[in-house]
Amino acid sequence: MPETPQEVLKMIQDQDIKIIDLKFIDMPGIWQHCSFYYDQIDESAFEDGVAFDGSSIRGWKAINESDMSMVPDPKTAWIDPFMKEKTLSMICSIKEPRTGEWYSRDPRTIAQKALDFLKSTGIGDITFFGPEAEFFIFEDVRFDQTESKGFYYVDSVEGRWNSGREEAGGNLGYKPRYKEGYFPVSPTDTMQDMRTEMLLTMAQCGVPIEKHHHEVASGGQNELGVRFAPIVEAGDFLMVYKYVVKNVAKKYGKTATFMPKPIFNDNGSGMHTHQSIWKNGKPLFFGDGYAGLSKMALHYIGGLLRHAPALLALTNPTTNSYKRLVPGFEAPVNLAYSQGNRSASIRIPLSGDNPKAKRMEFRCPDATCNPYIAFAAMLCAGLDGIKNEIDPGEPLDVDIYDLSPEELSKIPSTPGSLEAALEHLEQDHTFLTSTGVFTEDFIDNWIAYKLDNEINPMRLRPHPYEFSLYYDV
Ligand code: GLN
Ligand code: MG
Ligand code: MG
Ligand code: MG
Repeated sequence: MPETPQEVLKMIQDQDIKIIDLKFIDMPGIWQHCSFYYDQIDESAFEDGVAFDGSSIRGWKAINESDMSMVPDPKTAWIDPFMKEKTLSMICSIKEPRTGEWYSRDPRTIAQKALDFLKSTGIGDITFFGPEAEFFIFEDVRFDQTESKGFYYVDSVEGRWNSGREEAGGNLGYKPRYKEGYFPVSPTDTMQDMRTEMLLTMAQCGVPIEKHHHEVASGGQNELGVRFAPIVEAGDFLMVYKYVVKNVAKKYGKTATFMPKPIFNDNGSGMHTHQSIWKNGKPLFFGDGYAGLSKMALHYIGGLLRHAPALLALTNPTTNSYKRLVPGFEAPVNLAYSQGNRSASIRIPLSGDNPKAKRMEFRCPDATCNPYIAFAAMLCAGLDGIKNEIDPGEPLDVDIYDLSPEELSKIPSTPGSLEAALEHLEQDHTFLTSTGVFTEDFIDNWIAYKLDNEINPMRLRPHPYEFSLYYDV
């Protein structure tokens, strides 16, 4: 894989590549792209970027100040496996053409600034993120987005047995039992070939792959394992992951979704995120404290737990996110930490005596987040914990689901809705803005965007379940 602009340009020449596809992420987390004839990309493109109109990009510029530049990162060059014509793809960050500055609302720039901030504190010089994004594959999804109806359903709407089914209308047996999708062999598992193709395709795109498997929900829930990576690369890899999953599913005539809770009463899809900080090649989260953690790691956890209610507005940023964060489905509901306990929102995986494997896993996030923003925000929360030596309290080494209501009431819980999380973010964001990683403008814009485009439009629409409750009243 090329590293420098010169190496990319040489690759274009050597392989006779005619089309260069530049991709960047919008604020809500979807890749946008524009393809260029190869002679449009020269060395200056890697410095000043290529111009585009930013006015139609969600959450960005107004029409009167729409000019922006996308600047490709040569280290992200890969051949896009889904294009007929040989196409070189690169991931871009965004610059303001007038000032030449990186754009403060560009998520990838925010992740880069988070790394710069970490270095400036002297605490560490690299931070690793390992996200585990789960997703569903469905046979068919029907939308009716007309203004009058405004609702949609997936093929599982009649019940879990239909989710992820292979033959429309047919039931050939070997359906995973309720919550037993993790993980019988085929023919119960019908998605082996598709996942293998997804995993190998990711490798072709330069993503370091590890494994794949079916997940717990009774049909069509899957996870592919990607190796942890430094903050910006981890964001890039997650974007390639989602792109490959969606496009391979499409090839098989299926559709993939990362929605956190597509099916009522079955497991949702999370994006547990493993995190650690290193300095001079040395892992800093290994120590002689609880679960083999260092003091620094415990303070990092303290910061995550303290800021979690606000943080979730960025790591779990959709109205659907909060339908996942309910008891009984392996999703965290209480803000606590523990070794091995999967009902706590922070788990310390067993890593033996290997200091390099020592990390913590934040289980709240889901893959509807913008990964660059979510990783940067989690790092800011953890660093705030380290700087202020925030005590994470006692670990919770019991199954939180078994506690009495009285014991439970002592443990703080995750916010109940996106609206509640945004209210927390409104009150608690100095840990984000004081670092220079996030601007006040970013936070204000995020809150306004979510209210105007997601929360309020949801509130205005009759919900399908309201028909069940009220139609006959
Ligand atoms: N799907 C679960 C969640 O929502 C996690 C299941 C697992 O990976 N153990 O977080
Ligand atoms: Mg996993
Ligand atoms: Mg999982
Ligand atoms: Mg996990």
